[in-house]
Amino acid sequence: MKILVLNSGSSSLKFQLFDMPSGRVLVKGLAERIGEKSGRFKANDYLLETVLPTHREALELLSKFLLSPENKIVKNTKEITVVGHRVVHGGDTFIQPTLINQEVKEKIKELFSLAPLHNPANLTGIETAEKIFPDARQVAIFDTAFHQTIPEVNHRYAIPGQFYDLGIRKYGFHGISHQYVSQKAVEILGKNNSKIITLHLGNGASATAVWNEKSYDTSMGFGPMNGLVMGTRSGDIDQSIIFYLQDKLQFSPDEVQNILNKESGMKALAGTNDFRDIEKAVAEGSKKALLALEIYTNSIKKYIGNFIAQMNGIDALVFTAGIGENSPLVRKMICKNLDYLGIAIDDDKNNNPIDNQYDISSEFANVKLLVIPTNEELEIARQSYQLMV
Ligand code: ADP
Repeated sequence: MKILVLNSGSSSLKFQLFDMPSGRVLVKGLAERIGEKSGRFKANDYLLETVLPTHREALELLSKFLLSPENKIVKNTKEITVVGHRVVHGGDTFIQPTLINQEVKEKIKELFSLAPLHNPANLTGIETAEKIFPDARQVAIFDTAFHQTIPEVNHRYAIPGQFYDLGIRKYGFHGISHQYVSQKAVEILGKNNSKIITLHLGNGASATAVWNEKSYDTSMGFGPMNGLVMGTRSGDIDQSIIFYLQDKLQFSPDEVQNILNKESGMKALAGTNDFRDIEKAVAEGSKKALLALEIYTNSIKKYIGNFIAQMNGIDALVFTAGIGENSPLVRKMICKNLDYLGIAIDDDKNNNPIDNQYDISSEFANVKLLVIPTNEELEIARQSYQLMV
């Protein structure tokens, strides 16, 4: 079964075509700068610089690429049985992979207010795919769904109940990634009632306590700004800062949002959110870059301690996404001084990455430290496939 996975952003569209259930990737690519003066379409080795006024033109190019006799991918777009869409916010309505119909689209629209930056683009992707691949079933996989198992003790904020009734609660994000890597970790551990902490450290970052294969708590909350220090987001801050910025320093709500979302985090602390540059600066002796990394890794340690206390233990700590998979320095700083908790890193294993997943824990440690590359697209394809068979 051929399953096309789409991840639609406001000006970009990432896609992968899988042959399922093998998980073989037939096409991988992206369209960038949609709606701008000059766009770019890339599929496997094919690259085209062209204007892409809307998502429609991007998907038309993809369809043409798939049908091209030279590429021999499909003879007819009918061969694409399913289009699986990543949808960021499913509120508390969507807890499972969902076949898309008019009602589902209406619901996704209702959730725009909870994810104003993401859900509108996700819906555009869905509506465009319905036009370009009319014979395929459209399926939505939600980034919040995995976290719907978080119990009330962890998803409820201590604010008046009328707001909880309006849906103001912890939702959590990066669920597709936390689910994928935690499942891999469960396979490696091979035990029941496993206690796992997954660290998704990309430009956005979050930590999740996965207890007995279910999300039990996560660092992001009602929105994606909470929790860990991130590339350009502040992570946890004292709420009074927001009132102070607005009331005393006269920033508008939009400006405050922009500051905390786009101008904070490592960009504010280190002057850049690219960890390769930050590590280079540290190696060259920059105290500012080192302090930034200490603040960053400390914000992660705080959640590790929190989650271990909640689960009364930990079997494995998982590192994933751009930074988690590629930065031995960040991994080492996170694990420093955690031997009391049974966490100790093996420097050799940490510094010598091998392909795919690997264990970097010291042989004397009780806790497995696993580097597991995330693959959200494959997880979407798998969940879409399971819904169909
Ligand atoms: P997102 O999908 O959220 O944009 P990614 O998971 O692709 O994020 O991660 C992006 C981050 O990964 C960037 O901050 C980048 O600096 C970091 N990164 C990528 N490769 C490396 C590397 N080799 N060493 C350190 N950091 C890296």
